This record gives sequence, C-alpha cells and structure tokens, in this order.
Amino acid sequence: MASLVIHGGAGTIPRANFTPESYQAARDGLADALRAGWAVLARGGLAVDAVEAAVVALEDHPSFNAGHGAVLNAAGDHELDAAIMDGRQRMAGAIASARAIRNPVRAARRVMDASDCVLLSAAGADAFAREQGLDMVEQSYFTTSLRQQHWLRAEEEKAGLLKRERSEAEKHGTVGAVAFDDAGNLAAATSTGGYTYKRVGRVGDTPIIGAGTYASNGVVAVSCTGLGEYFIRRGTAHDIAARIHYAGESLATATAAAIADLTEDKCGAGLIAVDGMGNIAMPHNTEGMYRGSVTADGVASVGIYVDDFAKLESFAAGL
Ligand code: ASP
Repeated sequence: MASLVIHGGAGTIPRANFTPESYQAARDGLADALRAGWAVLARGGLAVDAVEAAVVALEDHPSFNAGHGAVLNAAGDHELDAAIMDGRQRMAGAIASARAIRNPVRAARRVMDASDCVLLSAAGADAFAREQGLDMVEQSYFTTSLRQQHWLRAEEEKAGLLKRERSEAEKHGTVGAVAFDDAGNLAAATSTGGYTYKRVGRVGDTPIIGAGTYASNGVVAVSCTGLGEYFIRRGTAHDIAARIHYAGESLATATAAAIADLTEDKCGAGLIAVDGMGNIAMPHNTEGMYRGSVTADGVASVGIYVDDFAKLESFAAGL
C-alpha cells in the first residue's frame, strides 16, 4: 500500500500570530495538496507523479513560500528553486533562480524527462520552461501583500529600525512531498522561494540533489526545509540515505540523527521522509512544520504544531 507525506516548510507562524482564517487556510492548503498527490497513488499511479501533483498544489496556494506566495529577494524580486527525483533509476531534475515559471516543480520534472541536464539556472531555466510550453507568468503573479510586508520588515531590520524580531515565517519556508507507490517506487520533490531578502543569485538546498531533495528506491525519499546553507554543507538528504543504505539504520534513527546534526548547527530544520517499506517520518526542531501524511491504511492527517496533527475525516470523500 502506498504512502505520501507533504510539508509546507518549517518557517511556521507563531501560534499567536495566526487568525482563525489564516490557520484554516493553511490547513486546507495542506489537505488539498494531500488529495492531489493521493489521487495519483490511489489509482495505482507512480510516486513521481504523486509528488509533482502535491507540490503543484502547494505552489499554487498563497500560504506557502513557493510559486504564488513566494518570498522576495534583496532586490524585491522572486527567484525560485525546485527539484524532483525519481527513485527508480535515481533520475533527477532541478531549476534554480527561475523568475517566470508558474510552477517551478513542473520545470524540474521537464529537466529530468526532456533534457540531458540535472540542474538548469536563471535565464536558462526560464528559457527551457518556455521552450517546453510550460505556463509562464510575470513576477507579480508570485507576489502577495504578506510577502511585501515581510520584505519591508527585512529592510527595516537592515536599517536597524526593527522593534520586534522577525519570525521564522517572515524569513523562509518551502514546500515538498515524498511518496511510496503501490509498486514500491520512491520519489521526492521540493520547491521554494528561498529566504526573504536573500542575496540576488543565492541558491539554497532545495534544487541541490542530495542536500534538500533525494530519492532512491529501496532506501528513502527525503525533502528538507530550513536554512539551505546548512543542508548543503551537511548533504542532509543523501546523508539520511547513506545512514539507511550503508549503516542499516532505521528511518526513524537516520532522520532523527540528521535533525540532531542541524540542531547542533543551531539551524531551525525539518524534513519529511519515506523509506523502502513505506514507513514515514517528519521530524523538525522548530516550533512547527506545516505537514500532512497519508499512511498505508489510508488515514490522512495534517498539522502545523506538535499538538495539532489530526486526522482529516473528510479525506476519502473529498478525492
Ligand atoms: N531551504 C530553503 C532555502 O534555504 C528555505 C526553507 O526551507 O525554509 O532556500
């Protein structure tokens, strides 16, 4: 039986800052993404198609830092990173610093399927997506008023004018999905706007295969969230695969060790993972992580904090 896990980033809003509406909107966004991914797996589809479908839904939702709702860089522009990996043959595709692709994960998929590259960046990524006939948009499509406020507060911080410390949610976020399909295949996908006020041209861990995204059949599929520089230096996603593959560690032990390493680095971090038997893990060291899962028994759950992870009663009916 298949399983699916998604995340909407470890840069969550402190509980007190949520309105009932924004809290519900984030939960609904997670539920919709689970439905989109599970619709593929429930009809016997491939893990790689399920993670793409789930990440497209999260990119389209304004609550999360990817696609529509992505953060702004230091110049006030959006530069988007995304990756996808199919565990069957360890094929992978990624894009970095793209500026005009509506759904960056779709472009990553095309890089994997229709090019001889793994990673395309900047103008080259945009041109390739256009060539492939993907939906292209103006920068304004990605911008929300909330992200503009976050950018202004980052400017104020730079000028030493900030009275309240910026929250994790103002700084970053990411979306991702990992899946195990009926045939036992694994896949992972991740997409992000990166960090608010990031340096122009800065690329995070998301599109770096083995850092923020990795999948290998029979071993594990991983998608990470947190300050990418730490994940790149640790090679986090591949490190988890190596612990499982070479050291025979369980999924729970390997993922907990990866988070412990990042905690030692003082990095707010989270990840989702599924192993070659369909077991899932979603550890994080932050106050919350937007996340959701469908386990082999078909039970779907979403949550943001440690104590609000709850079953979605309406899930099967909503498919
Ligand atoms: N990992 C992302 C990056 O560094 C940000 C995040 O996950 O919050 O670009």
